[in-house]
Amino acid sequence: MGTIIKTRVILSDSRTVLHGKALRFADGVIDRIAPFDTLIRRYAGDKVFEFENAALLPGFTNAHCHLELNWCKGKIKYNGSFIDWLQAIRDIKFGSDPPEPDPFPSIEAMLKTGTTTVIDHYSMPMPIAAIRATGIRYFPLREMFEFDNHTPNEKEIALRTAYSFAVHSPYTTSREVALTCRQLADRWGRPLSTHLSEMLDEIEFIKKSNEKIEWLLKKGDAYNGGWKGQGKTPVEYFFRMGLLNSRTYAVHLNYWEKNDIFFLVKSGLTPVFCPKSHRYFGHPRHPIETYQRAGLKVALGTDSLASNDSLNMLEEARLVMKSFPDMPLARLFDCLTINGLRPLNLHTRLGTLSDGKVADLAVWPNIQGDTPDEIIHQVLKGADETLLTAVNGKTVHLVDAV
Ligand SMILES: [Zn+2]
Repeated sequence: MGTIIKTRVILSDSRTVLHGKALRFADGVIDRIAPFDTLIRRYAGDKVFEFENAALLPGFTNAHCHLELNWCKGKIKYNGSFIDWLQAIRDIKFGSDPPEPDPFPSIEAMLKTGTTTVIDHYSMPMPIAAIRATGIRYFPLREMFEFDNHTPNEKEIALRTAYSFAVHSPYTTSREVALTCRQLADRWGRPLSTHLSEMLDEIEFIKKSNEKIEWLLKKGDAYNGGWKGQGKTPVEYFFRMGLLNSRTYAVHLNYWEKNDIFFLVKSGLTPVFCPKSHRYFGHPRHPIETYQRAGLKVALGTDSLASNDSLNMLEEARLVMKSFPDMPLARLFDCLTINGLRPLNLHTRLGTLSDGKVADLAVWPNIQGDTPDEIIHQVLKGADETLLTAVNGKTVHLVDAV
């Protein structure tokens, strides 16, 4: 038995609207987009959802978060020093009484607001099977923070993750550990994520040295006394190391120098911009448009509740619309959907709605527009919650079916 969804319009990708059609999927895969009458005649036993004045869209991708930090909400103060903020989290996380990660309220909120795929950094024990049982498409990346480990044991590192790796950053992960993670991820055909060019202290440390970062590493018992500045930006340092390729999420990239653009484009990586977290830390205007002009396919993420008050991609998109009013809405929609699937190599199977694609989708209420721009604008500006969200053809959130 399949499922047929009828809405007023289908936004099958950022530039294509289908009128007068309904979508059918079976076994998690979209098999036909055709007139509703044709589908119900042909597939009489199917489950049918009809929504008036609604639009059917691909699900959103949250390309960066830390679900394990949900307990940080409202608890971590930011005094203007990123390093102090990071250490405050680490003091609790690795203290005598670390909190249990409780990702479920955020996952429920994500499904309600149309997010179907989430890429997550983790370093505490996470209830991965239970997270997957919610239905969300979940990719856990074990975060590595070992600046003083120069002889990593590949077998031991391989056992640490349920899926793949996140190299925490160039200033907290040794070259050898980072490369071991990259090699394992490449061998498994899986992505690797890293925070990169997030702040000025990082850039100074990679180029020469930085006292604040040395203090952080000493606190974490990971100080490498032999560190010598590389005379390069973090992007060039990681690029020349062989860490950056098309299976890479480079998170933040808040700062750039001219040559970085060449290395970013050459690697084919996916930059991830976390708009609300970026605002929280008060960084200068994000260079998302510079990256887009260079041809990079930027994705969006929420980061964690230590620097955000929700994990809601609608709010991230709204902030992008406000901060970058000249960005075409179709381009913004790609940032929300298909771009974040590229390092997973899933962008050919998810992120758009057409025959043969996986049924990761959301139905949004009260959509009157007819063009892609009108529909995207109404969803991003006007909606709070989907009527229905499905992942792999399974309904994971449902408000009302007529
Ligand atoms: Zn992060």
